[in-house]
Amino acid sequence: MNFSTLRFPIKTKLTIATMIPLAVAIFCCFLAGIFILNAKVAGQAQEKVRNDLSVAREAYQSELSRVCDVVRFSAAIGTTTQAIENVNRKALAEVLAPVRSNEQLDIMAVVDASGKVIYRTNNPDVYGDLKTDRFVARALKGEVVTGSSVLSAGHLAVEGAALLQKARSGSGADATDAGLFLMAAVPVRDPGGAVVGAIYGGVLLNNNHALMEHVRGVVYEGTRSKSSKIGSASVFLKGTRVASSSQPPAGARLADEVFRRVILEDGHWVGRAQVGSQWYLAAYEPIRSLQGVPIGALYVGMPESQYSSAQGGTALLLGSVVLICTLIGVAVSGVLGGRLAQPVKELSILARRLAAGERGVRSNIDSRDEIGDLAGSFNEMSAALAEREDRIIELNRDLEKKVEQRTAELEEKNRLLVQTREELLRVEKLAAIGELAAGVAHEINNPMAIIRGNTELLQLALPEEDPNREEVDTIFTQVKRVERIVSSLLKFARRERRELGTVQLNALLHEIVAQIRHQEPLDGIKVQEQYDPEAEMVSGDADQLRQVFTNLVINAVQAMSGGGVLSIESSRGTEGAGFQVRISDTGSGIKPENMHQIFNPFFTTKATGTGLGLSVSYGIVKEHGGSIEVRSVPGAGTCFCVNLPS
Ligand code: ADP
Repeated sequence: MNFSTLRFPIKTKLTIATMIPLAVAIFCCFLAGIFILNAKVAGQAQEKVRNDLSVAREAYQSELSRVCDVVRFSAAIGTTTQAIENVNRKALAEVLAPVRSNEQLDIMAVVDASGKVIYRTNNPDVYGDLKTDRFVARALKGEVVTGSSVLSAGHLAVEGAALLQKARSGSGADATDAGLFLMAAVPVRDPGGAVVGAIYGGVLLNNNHALMEHVRGVVYEGTRSKSSKIGSASVFLKGTRVASSSQPPAGARLADEVFRRVILEDGHWVGRAQVGSQWYLAAYEPIRSLQGVPIGALYVGMPESQYSSAQGGTALLLGSVVLICTLIGVAVSGVLGGRLAQPVKELSILARRLAAGERGVRSNIDSRDEIGDLAGSFNEMSAALAEREDRIIELNRDLEKKVEQRTAELEEKNRLLVQTREELLRVEKLAAIGELAAGVAHEINNPMAIIRGNTELLQLALPEEDPNREEVDTIFTQVKRVERIVSSLLKFARRERRELGTVQLNALLHEIVAQIRHQEPLDGIKVQEQYDPEAEMVSGDADQLRQVFTNLVINAVQAMSGGGVLSIESSRGTEGAGFQVRISDTGSGIKPENMHQIFNPFFTTKATGTGLGLSVSYGIVKEHGGSIEVRSVPGAGTCFCVNLPS
């Protein structure tokens, strides 16, 4: 997967951007919290195990006190004093044996003032030996002495054979036959206060699991785990464990480090220790002899699992708090990210609408920050864009108008140019034809005058009934026709001079209509005249204009061979200047392909036509400064409009 092409919404990026430092901070806090809490829990655990050791010591001392009390009680009995003075072993047995048994002492013996053993409750048959240990020595000096003491296997055998067996603990290299005792020695005095002897007694700690269980119970009273009793208490003789609250009880040795610290250096040791397969948080302190020399160690310990589970619980609690905080953080940064991203998203949509061509797009974002500035700039840009586009549209419209105007002007000029060129051509052509026609007419005129004169003479000479008279008449008719053509040619060549004057236009037109009947039959033709009185006066040559209108009227009549309507109208010019004469018919009309040639000289569609009528009329109107327009619909009719200046 190519991550560079992936697209992440800004909301996600903002959320991640705020979450990463938050997550790092939360993770660091979590680690620091775990470290601090662990250190605190570890410190508290160590403090507790130290306290536990103090409590265990108290329990140990309390047992020692009990032993001392029992021995003192035994020494205080009057019978005991008398029995010692009288060396009455039987009496001593009666008094002391039940006490030892009831109070569960392991040894209890009586010595006289010289230190010689008189009676042993546990081993009555062995006596007479001299007891020289410090307990007895100090008791014989009148002191009540209590403390811990180690009795060798030999001494144990003397005190009682069963004790040797009871004291045996450990196995292999760890095995020991010596016994660790809670000992007490008390002087026995006569009524006068003199020391007559002493009683010593003790409780063997080796394999005394009940005592250790009692100590453990005192220490961890009220502290119970779900499955089992927690904690353990043990005593060590030198490095060997001789009694323990836990099973199997004995046999384990003190770790070297602990042995060195507690036994050799006479110090306390608190730390992790393995007991059996389990690890404990343990505390050790030395058990000292009367001389203050470490002879063993007292131990209490709590399984590390308790502490670990407390640590685990703490970590779980902290983890849960961190997780909840993280989730809240994610939710809050999601909401904040969304809020921050919202205006950006909105601006993006508006920008897309603007790009799609929408105008007047405005953002309503009103925040006083960079996004607010951006929204402001966007609005300015949108407004400027709309304004610029309006201006461009306006300029475009102007440009189009100008182009249209210029095109129209150009077309008009083109049309005028084409028209002018056509007119120029026509004028040139007319001039050339006129010149030629004038030359031909001039040359024909004189012979024709002779032919005509002689033909008239022949007519006069021949009577009406002469058989040749008809041919002569035909010659005369044809001569007249030739003369008419020659006359037309001369008119066309405009050899005649124009005589300008005022022309009564309407009267002229009416006169032409009245006379036309003599030239052309008007059978089936309805004539309509409509004259504008204001179109009355025209400046021009009356004869030439008569010729123009006569030509047009004759053409109209000839176009309506089957009848129709002939209209003759006059009016003021179209733009209020000059005059217009319209001669229209409902005749055959002009074919479109002939339209451009009807003003050419000699163009005719008639059998007897000369094709000079329209070309002569055109020339005359042009010379008057006017124009002729033609509108024709084949089969419907034609209208000739003659425009004359005023
Ligand atoms: P001619 O009349 O001798 O033919 P013109 O120059 O007067 O010569 O006319 C040229 C041609 O124009 C005619 O032959 C005819 O074809 C056409 N023309 C002129 N006037 C009309 C009209 N009113 N209706 C139909 N065609 C016409």
